[in-house]
Amino acid sequence: MLRLSSHPSGRHFLQIPGPTNVPDRVLRAIDNVTIDHRGPEFGELGKSVLAGMKKVFKTKSHVVIYPASGTGAWEAALVNTLSAGDLVLMAETGHFAAMWKKMATELGLRVEFLPGDWRRGADASAIEARLKADADHEIKAVCIVHNETATGVTSNVNGVRAAIDRAKHPALLMVDTISSLGSIDYRHDEWGVDVSVAGSQKGLMLPPGLSFNAISAKALAASEHATLRRSYWDWHPMIASNATGYFPYTPATNLLYGLHEALEMIFHEGLETVFARHQRHGEATRRAVLAWGLEVLCADPAEYSPALTAVIMPEGHSADAFRKVVLDHFNMSLGQGLSKLKDKVFRIGHLGDINDLSVCGTLAGIEMGLELAGVPHKKGGVQAAMGYLAQNAEVRSTAVT
Ligand SMILES: *Cc1c(COP(=O)(O)O)cnc(C)c1O
Repeated sequence: MLRLSSHPSGRHFLQIPGPTNVPDRVLRAIDNVTIDHRGPEFGELGKSVLAGMKKVFKTKSHVVIYPASGTGAWEAALVNTLSAGDLVLMAETGHFAAMWKKMATELGLRVEFLPGDWRRGADASAIEARLKADADHEIKAVCIVHNETATGVTSNVNGVRAAIDRAKHPALLMVDTISSLGSIDYRHDEWGVDVSVAGSQKGLMLPPGLSFNAISAKALAASEHATLRRSYWDWHPMIASNATGYFPYTPATNLLYGLHEALEMIFHEGLETVFARHQRHGEATRRAVLAWGLEVLCADPAEYSPALTAVIMPEGHSADAFRKVVLDHFNMSLGQGLSKLKDKVFRIGHLGDINDLSVCGTLAGIEMGLELAGVPHKKGGVQAAMGYLAQNAEVRSTAVT
């Protein structure tokens, strides 16, 4: 293994909002012999993980799995459903929304970007107004990010669906759930989403390297006429092979072992319990931030992310210098501010394989780091979080694994 430095004692705290800490159980599952992906055993694995992912997306329709980072599944969503010059409506919620917009433009789509201040989610009423004005149905898709990982702000997917319905507009609804799936309540079918995009390394507790599309019947029908060039990302050969649990090209076999294990863990805990746990840890984290006298970037409490919290650095202080202090002293990685938020915020990941004590440890590292970095703050953030967690204590399984 590549040794970057002498080995620090204890575990690294990977408290960035993805990749997240990979549970030992998942690492052990990945550490297994790679089998013939066209052999007799593989089909069962393929069928099992595809069925499991449908349960996580809450869909009865198709799910495809790519050996790719989340960005690949973004591209798959666009190239399978749209044609060059199509108009797409996107909402500027932060860095990731901006990156998806950039990709759409590079692929030859025309994008209308509803402006935002990076502190709020997608504005459903602005989307409704724009769609109502589009009498000729020029807009072919509405694309939003469910959990904007750059800002710690969620968007109300069901609210955007309702806005599209009120406008009686036929546009497809595409949702980036890369940092929400498996952490935040999500319902592909019930919310009438046409393409959901996800990745492995956030709520699903896997290393990077897998990404997903959940595909509605309407999106699949659109793919029959969409003319953007596609080959590797084409849903059709995937869906055809997936029927028997196989893939048209070599899948990421060992990551699929890991996915199988991660799904077992998620279903054993229960999806709704997983969501409640993330809510609780988000609340504990925000209480700590408030007690420190610092400000949460998300401006609307209804849109607070259960998966991560972005914290605004006080004027004149560098978020990156603070993060370096925390890494150097406490072996903990916190998320950096992205693009226009660079050095202005730090992000606390509280998603994936997290429990009360890992949240408290994370917050303790931050509180000590604030002191060491000379960032003005009040004491008692960890205390506030502990108080909340203890008052809302939950009996957890005591199994060590
Ligand atoms: C992480 C992330 C991405 C990018 O995914 P990659 O796996 O880095 O390609 C896109 N959107 C959101 C919301 C993310 O959190």
